[in-house]
Amino acid sequence: TPLTNTILYLDGVHVSFDGFRALNQLSLAIAPGEMRAIIGPNGAGKTTMMDCITGKTKPDGGVVMFDGAVDLTQLDEAAIAELGIGRKFQKPTVFETLTVEDNVRLALKGPRSPWSALFGERNRIARERITEVLDIARMTEHRDRLAADLSHGQKQWLEIAMLLAQDPKLLLVDEPVAGMTDSETMETAKLLKKICAQGHAVVVVEHDMLFVRELDCKVTVLHEGSTLAEGSIDAVSVNERVVEVYLGR
Ligand code: ADP
Repeated sequence: TPLTNTILYLDGVHVSFDGFRALNQLSLAIAPGEMRAIIGPNGAGKTTMMDCITGKTKPDGGVVMFDGAVDLTQLDEAAIAELGIGRKFQKPTVFETLTVEDNVRLALKGPRSPWSALFGERNRIARERITEVLDIARMTEHRDRLAADLSHGQKQWLEIAMLLAQDPKLLLVDEPVAGMTDSETMETAKLLKKICAQGHAVVVVEHDMLFVRELDCKVTVLHEGSTLAEGSIDAVSVNERVVEVYLGR
């Protein structure tokens, strides 16, 4: 079945807002540990799709399955997060008055974290996980700085580190490189690829084509709530229908 070996499986998903079809027969299959970029013009349905996965929006019809067996349409947002689905919104949300390390510690202790049970006083395993996560996000040298003093790019990496601390099976990331410099953009692609290489599936919504190219993964193009094209960035960027949609012809 198509459910075999998928961490995320959407089929025939419909969402209407006051009669307006935001998602129209949307299908999507993501393998465990896969990286996928979702692109598409404004209003294509990218945010609505993410909202259907996290339970913020309930589809009017269709299937949203996690890990081959869990029907996400039957669960609320908190229960979905506890399954191991992390979401990063476009704007960084970190605790500005805490240090980088304490931000990660807080994420690790969170109710959604599989590590929370291990979290005793100065727990060694917890400390090791914090060190590991900061290292992956290349934030080790900043661990004692206040989050408020970080650059925009560093705040985004810290928030990604906080999500990683919770060991998500699926990480949903919304426009992470908006407002970043080119070198920060490249650094972010490297970080997400590293996370993916460790077995976490990553779904990224992004407009920045330089970044999408750097992710070097399969791309899904949404348009009017459905999949318009799927394939490598090189393949979709010469797809006639994709060119029409982007050039508005
Ligand atoms: P994207 O993220 O690709 O820009 P969205 O998923 O935000 O697209 O929106 C898809 C369409 O659904 C848009 O036309 C948007 O105006 C509409 N839409 C999204 N959310 C709502 C809502 N809560 N109420 C009414 N219309 C909405």
